[in-house]
Amino acid sequence: MFFPHYKFNINKMNFDLSDTQKTILEKTRAFALKEIAPFAAQWDREEHIPRQQIQKYADAGFFGITIPEKYGGKGRSTLDAILIIEEVSRHCGISGRLIVDHNFGAVMTILNFGTEEQRRRVLPAVCKGQMLMSIGMTEPEAGSALTDLTSSAREEKDHYVLNGKKHWITGAGEREYTLVYARFGQIPGPKGIGAILVDMDMPGFNYAGRIPSLGVRGVQEGILEFQEMKVPKENLVVPPGSAFGNLMSAYNGQRVGASAVALGIARGAFDFAKQYADNRNQFGKKITDFQTIQFKLADMAIELDAAKLLIYRAASHAKQGITNRYESSVAKVYASEMALRVASEAIQLCGAQGYSRKLPLERMFRDVRCFTLAGGSAEMQRLGIASSILGRSLPQYSKS
Ligand SMILES: Cc1cc2nc3c(=O)[nH]c(=O)nc-3n(C[C@H](O)[C@H](O)[C@H](O)COP(=O)(O)OP(=O)(O)OC[C@H]3O[C@@H](n4cnc5c(N)ncnc54)[C@H](O)[C@@H]3O)c2cc1C
Repeated sequence: MFFPHYKFNINKMNFDLSDTQKTILEKTRAFALKEIAPFAAQWDREEHIPRQQIQKYADAGFFGITIPEKYGGKGRSTLDAILIIEEVSRHCGISGRLIVDHNFGAVMTILNFGTEEQRRRVLPAVCKGQMLMSIGMTEPEAGSALTDLTSSAREEKDHYVLNGKKHWITGAGEREYTLVYARFGQIPGPKGIGAILVDMDMPGFNYAGRIPSLGVRGVQEGILEFQEMKVPKENLVVPPGSAFGNLMSAYNGQRVGASAVALGIARGAFDFAKQYADNRNQFGKKITDFQTIQFKLADMAIELDAAKLLIYRAASHAKQGITNRYESSVAKVYASEMALRVASEAIQLCGAQGYSRKLPLERMFRDVRCFTLAGGSAEMQRLGIASSILGRSLPQYSKS
C-alpha cells in the first residue's frame, strides 16, 4: 500500500460492465443521439436549455439514479450514474451537468444528512423533475476560502432568518430550491457553517442576475441575494457544529460527477477529431497516415483511459453516493486538466475547421474550461490530495 492511511481495495478494481450496465449504456446512447445531440449547439447558441428538455432527463430516469427506490430513485450504483453522465456529456456538457446536479451535491447531502421528513418531501420531487436544485456555497469574498463565508442564518422561534449573497450558483434563477451554506449564530470558521434548504419562491429572495461566461452556457451561473428571508426550521439539513466535514464529504460525489462530464466532453471531442482526421487528405494521403497524427491520437487515448480509470475507481468505492475525498480529488484534477488538453488537441487535429463554429469542437473546448474551477479549483483539490498524503490538515491561514 502506497499511503499507509489510505485504504485501497485492489479486489474492487474490476471494471467489466455487467449486462445491466451495458443495457443502461446502450439505452443512454440511443436517447442521447436522438434527444440531445441534434440540439446541443442550439442550446449553447441560445444560452438556454428548455425546461421540457430537463423533464425528459427526469422521465428517462437520469435524476436520482443512486437514490433508493423508496424515495423515488432508481437505487442503482454511483458507477451506473457515472456511465450515464459520461455518455450524455459526449454530446452535451450542460446536459451532463444537469444530471450531476440531480444525483450528487445537494441531493446526496439530503439523502445522507437530512431528516427523514426532508428525504420524503424532496427526493421524490427531484427524481420526477418537479424540484430542480442548486447548491449555494460560493460568495464574493469566500471562494476557495469557503470557511470565511458570511451569509448568516439567525435563529428565531420556528424559523431562521437568512441574509447574504451567493454568486456563481449553477442554475440560479431557474431552479426551485437551493441548498444554502450559511453561518449560524456568531460561531467563526467551519464549526459555524450549516446548510439549509431554501425555496426560491419565498419573500426575501432576490435573483440578482446571470454571470455571462465562457462555456457551459445553456445552464446559467447566477447571483442570489437573501435579505431577512424567513426559512422554516424544518428546512435545516445540516446543522452547524462539527458537520462541515459532512457537507464537504457529500460534495465529493459532485466532483466525481463533474469529472465524468469533463471526460465525456473530451471523449466527444476525441471521437469527432479522430473521424475528421481519418477522412482528411493532405500531401496525397490521409493525415492519419502520418505518424505525428497517429501519436497525437494515441496520447489522447492514453489520457482519456487514465481519467476514466480514476473516475471509475472513485465511483466504484462510493458508499451511498459518498465518494472518498482523495480518490474524488485525484479524479477531478486529472480529468479536468486532461479534458482541456484533449479538447485543444482535437481542434489541432481538425486544423482551421476545428477552430470554426461550424464544428462542435469550439463549444466543447469552451465547455471543458470550467472544470478546473467549478466544484473547487484544481489547486484546492491538490491541497486536499497533499493533505491525504501527509496525513494531516493543511490550513492555509487563520482569519477566523
Ligand atoms: C462554471 C462554474 C460553476 C460554478 N457553480 C457553483 C455552484 O453551483 N455553487 C457554488 O457555490 N459555487 C459554484 N462555482 C464557484 C466555484 O466553486 C468557485 O469558483 C471556486 O471554488 C473558486 O473560487 P473563486 O472563483 O472565488 O476563486 P478564488 O478563491 O478567488 O481563487 C483564485 C485562484 O487562486 C487559487 N487559490 C486560492 N487560494 C489558494 C491557495 N491557498 N493556494 C493555492 N491557490 C489558491 C485558486 O485555486 C484559483 O486558481 C462555480 C464556478 C464556475 C466557474
